[in-house]
Amino acid sequence: MASVELHNIHKAYGALTVIHDISLSIEDGEFIALVGPSGCGKSTLLRMIAGLEEITDGDVSIGGQVVNAMTPRERNIAMVFQSYALYPHMTVAENMGFNLKLSGETKQVIEQRVNEAARMLDLTKLLDRKPAQLSGGQRQRVAMGRAIVRNPAVFLFDEPLSNLDAKLRVQMRSEIKALHQKVQTTSIYVTHDQIEAMTLADRIVVLNQGKIEQEGTPIELYRKPANLFVAGFIGSPA
Ligand code: ADP
Ligand code: MG
Repeated sequence: MASVELHNIHKAYGALTVIHDISLSIEDGEFIALVGPSGCGKSTLLRMIAGLEEITDGDVSIGGQVVNAMTPRERNIAMVFQSYALYPHMTVAENMGFNLKLSGETKQVIEQRVNEAARMLDLTKLLDRKPAQLSGGQRQRVAMGRAIVRNPAVFLFDEPLSNLDAKLRVQMRSEIKALHQKVQTTSIYVTHDQIEAMTLADRIVVLNQGKIEQEGTPIELYRKPANLFVAGFIGSPA
């Protein structure tokens, strides 16, 4: 677990500035939802925290250490996307353990961590299957398992449930919540689904055109939206 700090983050693609001076402190173990309309810069911000995108200006700190110059692996973060990108030729267990294998962990350690994550995510009986033999929800759980086994300091989620049907989304939402209650890993969860944000997050950050409109607990935002944009975004149905 680790705190995450953004200090005056700017991001430009050529002449186009997409993130304008964002500062944000996320506490150890906190679950933050980052919400806002399509194109407002959510993925860009997440990718800069992950180390997948260069920061134009500003600092990202994880656990009190500036990580701008570190690779994604060195940052000890795990990212879960909407496309799960599982390896089709590998079993569930092999998919979940693959990153640990790359890090040079022993077979015993890999097996132990994979089994532990499988228990948490109700995947124990599916460890020998191939991705093609799984449902969408099961695949998404494998993708989460792959993130958990590395015991990351921070989880970054980029709209992980948006490819799933409504019923499954509701189920996975409660699984993610239960998982966070168990492992308490600092989490930043990007979504454009207000209900997801309201139910999962300790704190919601509303982004619009690369700037923070408001941050606060779900109740604070719901009761006292800072402006019409936040009111419309938090108040309107998904
Ligand atoms: P969101 O995830 O909130 O939908 P993004 O972070 O993907 O938004 O994009 C924010 C803005 O940055 C958009 O205007 C998008 O077109 C632009 N953008 C994202 N990636 C690139 C890129 N590689 N080159 C140029 N513009 C980009
Ligand atoms: Mg995005």
